[in-house]
Amino acid sequence: MRPPALNPLFAEITALPGVGPRIAPLLAKAAGPKVVDLLWHLPTGLIDRRQTPSVADAPVGEVATLRLRVEGHIPQPRTHRTPYRVRCRDDSGTIDLVYFHPNPDWLAKTLPVGEEWVVSGRVDLYQGQRQMPHPDLIEPPERFEAVAVVEPVYRLSTGLVPKVMSKTVAAALERLPELPEWQDPAWLARQGWPAWHEALHAAHRPQGQAELAPDTPPRRRLAYDELLSNQLALALIRAAYRRRPGRPFAGDGRLRDRLAAALPFALTPSQTMALAEITGDMASDYRMLRLLQGDVGSGKTVVALFAMLAAVECGAQAALLAPTEVLARQHFETILPLAAKAGVPAALLTGRDKGRPRAETVAELAAGMTRIIVGTHALLSEDVGFADLGLAVIDEQHRFGVDQRLALSAKGRAVDMLVMTATPIPRTLQLTAYGDMDVSRITEKPPGRRPVDTRTIPQERLAEIVEGIGRQIDRGAQVFWVCPLVEESESSDLAAAEERAAALQRRFGERVGLIHGRLKSAEKDRVMAGFAAGDIALLVATTVIEVGVNVPAATVMVIEHAERFGLAQLHQLRGRVGRSDRPSTCILLYAPPLTDAAKARLKVLRDTEDGFLIAEEDLRLRGPGEVLGVRQSGLPGFRLADPAAHGDLLNVAGDDCRLILQRDPDLQSPRGEALRTLLYLFERDAAVRYLRSG
Ligand code: ADP
Ligand code: MG
Repeated sequence: MRPPALNPLFAEITALPGVGPRIAPLLAKAAGPKVVDLLWHLPTGLIDRRQTPSVADAPVGEVATLRLRVEGHIPQPRTHRTPYRVRCRDDSGTIDLVYFHPNPDWLAKTLPVGEEWVVSGRVDLYQGQRQMPHPDLIEPPERFEAVAVVEPVYRLSTGLVPKVMSKTVAAALERLPELPEWQDPAWLARQGWPAWHEALHAAHRPQGQAELAPDTPPRRRLAYDELLSNQLALALIRAAYRRRPGRPFAGDGRLRDRLAAALPFALTPSQTMALAEITGDMASDYRMLRLLQGDVGSGKTVVALFAMLAAVECGAQAALLAPTEVLARQHFETILPLAAKAGVPAALLTGRDKGRPRAETVAELAAGMTRIIVGTHALLSEDVGFADLGLAVIDEQHRFGVDQRLALSAKGRAVDMLVMTATPIPRTLQLTAYGDMDVSRITEKPPGRRPVDTRTIPQERLAEIVEGIGRQIDRGAQVFWVCPLVEESESSDLAAAEERAAALQRRFGERVGLIHGRLKSAEKDRVMAGFAAGDIALLVATTVIEVGVNVPAATVMVIEHAERFGLAQLHQLRGRVGRSDRPSTCILLYAPPLTDAAKARLKVLRDTEDGFLIAEEDLRLRGPGEVLGVRQSGLPGFRLADPAAHGDLLNVAGDDCRLILQRDPDLQSPRGEALRTLLYLFERDAAVRYLRSG
């Protein structure tokens, strides 16, 4: 149960004063739906309102807070484009508050002649007269002290005004409960870090630009809190997993031998190495929890199949869980013929299976007739059971939560778990995503692959590119054409792809196909099958093809507005080509002018195809301020910690966490109790359930 002290923080934001049904969704969009989300919504800038000069001394171009008396209104002439002016003064001179497109009634009511006000905003000069266009704040004189401060600036959502955000955050800060310190006091002292309360208050009330930096003591402390909670949660889950005894799946190798004989190729050295690590884990009597990392096309699926056969040799069943229908189907198509050659019955189960056929698949699995099952989330349904599940393979696991992983393993007894990811992750990120899970890496591509010729070309040469593509298609090439994220919304994404597909169809006719996330899954399959069969020569796609799709015949990848994608994503997309021994090309179209960061990203991509190197570069290049980059490759689930700025803390958190659990594996000491609160605070309470003393 969540410690009651935290309840005020986990209330809906509507519990805060002034947050009604209109404002709440706007705040939720910017920060999140709960009070605690506002705490984590740290300022991105500030406005210094501490200058309180007389009107005559107010520096032009700077923000000032002035005490003014309203002298008169100079309404906007109807026919004229000049703004509405409210002339104000103090003893030193006059200044005009200037409004474009004002509501005159509102102005007359708000600023009656003769009254005194505190006004804050940017001062400028127009034809020798000081003026302040659209003051930020107009408050009664007694609020002077409250206005003349440094005001934090927060990221907003459309329709939300700064004042509402800052007032609501301030209200959230007032609700901070007294919580026991979860960090080691000696460590805090050594770092010079403030207590949690103080850290939050300081982070939300920066007194100067320097205090907005991620390396200030308050921000580092908060980031460390988050990183520690993350490491702790992962370690607890892992410890619980390991505590449960495993089953040794040694196997006699007979099925794996048949598979090896059926494969038209030999495993690469790193595939062989990874497989040895996996089968070593499986043969031991503890439970395997291993991550198999390998670039797109490096041959993870085959390795997974060998592992599954090792389980089947021991009389157990194996399951492969994939994040999408397309991927599940594709894995199945790879696995089915090979499993058949090894004499092992395999089946597919996805959300699309309904009625009698589904019931049959489920029954055969439960009866143990099916030895290998491939599927989507459908595998997690309650009515899907196994005769004896021994190995769960989870593909592209960053799309699955810990709970889903466990839901699958709960369908068997002492299930070994192999998690596959095609996203090469730098070491720091790997720790945050997986804790210190065992890792096998496939570092080389299958032999015979040719490097992808990668070019960056400005969008204005589109017509030329289309002509070039036309010639390639005529020679039998197959082309992926990826349309970018246009805006936040899926629909505008889609519109761009549809428009491009229509234009290309006018040029190339029937040979152009379109695939996107909104298509029904049967329709997606039809399109993918058409492309795989070569009926479709040019496939326009939104980023749905990002994950895993394998059409080895495709040799050209066009990515529009490549500058809008993150490095990792571009690398994933490019990985769709260069999967055969034929030369491949990747054309990165961009709209100039490029930011320096975008230039650097595209250069990395031109220079290397090494996914691990690209991942490291991605982390290095991604400045914290780079919104797009963060959106696309930021750490999912993190609010305060930034791997680029706080990478050093991550390793410390890992060590700290090991020490903590050595001394107090069930978090029962007073500090342990405080650390439980920390887990709840960062909503990593799923982990608490894995404590022996829950
Ligand atoms: P990943 O899942 O890592 O993206 P796949 O397992 O789908 O990669 O493999 C990509 C392609 O490479 C498949 O067509 C597969 O048959 C082939 N392949 C895998 N291993 C080898 C190998 N050692 N030699 C040649 N081809 C291989
Ligand atoms: Mg694969």
